[in-house]
Amino acid sequence: MPDTMHIIIKASGKGRSIAVTADNKLMEYYVDKADESTLAGALVLGRVERVVPTMGAAFVNIGQAQNGFLPLDEMESFTKINQAASLASGQELIFQIKKDAKDQKGAFLTRDIALPGQYLIYMPLNRYVGVSKRIRDDHARQKLLETGKALCQDTFGLIMREASLLARTDMLYEELQELKALWNTMQKSAEYAKAPTVLHRESVLAGLLRDYAQRYSIRITCNDKVNRMPVPPTGIDWEQVSDVQLEAQWKAYHVDSSLEEALGRRVMLKNGGTLMIDEREALSTVDVNTASFVGDQQGDIALKQNLAACHDIARQIRLRNLSGIIIIDFVDMPDEVQRAQVIQRLESELSRERVKTVVHGFTSLGFLEMTRKRTGATLRDQLCAPCEKCHATGYRLERERLS
Ligand SMILES: [Zn+2]
Repeated sequence: MPDTMHIIIKASGKGRSIAVTADNKLMEYYVDKADESTLAGALVLGRVERVVPTMGAAFVNIGQAQNGFLPLDEMESFTKINQAASLASGQELIFQIKKDAKDQKGAFLTRDIALPGQYLIYMPLNRYVGVSKRIRDDHARQKLLETGKALCQDTFGLIMREASLLARTDMLYEELQELKALWNTMQKSAEYAKAPTVLHRESVLAGLLRDYAQRYSIRITCNDKVNRMPVPPTGIDWEQVSDVQLEAQWKAYHVDSSLEEALGRRVMLKNGGTLMIDEREALSTVDVNTASFVGDQQGDIALKQNLAACHDIARQIRLRNLSGIIIIDFVDMPDEVQRAQVIQRLESELSRERVKTVVHGFTSLGFLEMTRKRTGATLRDQLCAPCEKCHATGYRLERERLS
């Protein structure tokens, strides 16, 4: 039996709030507003403004305040086929947004389009065939690689996702046809559209269903009478309820208090310990603290505390949508075998979500280092604005202390 994922969608005049729950807990949260949501993954028709070979980059007008940033270096198999040199200002091309614009930086773009399905990632402009790193078994990898090559016939690129492991070939083929049709439609609309414009943007819900339908049995509750979901996919349990009923579910899952906790620094653990989480631009840190002072037998108690914290660490990282470098300061535990146990537990907790994480191991100073792929905005960026009073430092100057 797969785990159950219950997605609760609260619609209002302003847009939709999407709460993703599993194990009766809030796991992910999205604010879905037509004008403010992430464009990561979207296809846009852009106009090349400037090519700067010395920077190895081009700047592309995609209709945002800042021009998009396009590195001239793309994947080898893309470059071979598409001759990267031919880029010139004034050109109108289809680009994919890899990272949203943030602060003073424009969106990060690519010309090497990748369209994800449940089983496959279709890449119309390169010839690379690969297998998801989540699949570890060599034999399975080899088999999928052969299937992929047979599907591609060296005319496009493909990545076999984890879910392709359990899919029949006709299911793979069918999805491939859908993705190809989507790409053809994009190309046709690009011919008639005026740059800059967004050609295709996947809804938050469509992305969730695509990525989680294999791993979870999904149930959706929604109060949205106007914007019903396009077509509920088969096998998804889907109900539409009144505002009052929805509010009751929202409360039952403690969505608001979970959000409040995930926007703060301190998270209480079940056994009395705490996590202190600091989100910063360059890296985020998680500090694990035990409930009380521990004297002797520190090793075993530390291990227990660290293992118990893994579930909440993984959940907070996912819910906050932290990305980039994450440093975890576990309770001091120098034993290599115990460290390996903690890494294994953390990896297993992290494997429940769709965003890719890599646990790199303990540094020489005893911190656990990991990285998580950046996708969309953090929870904080979705819901908060920097504090004007303290310029987002959390401190204010006490003038009387100055002299
Ligand atoms: Zn402040």
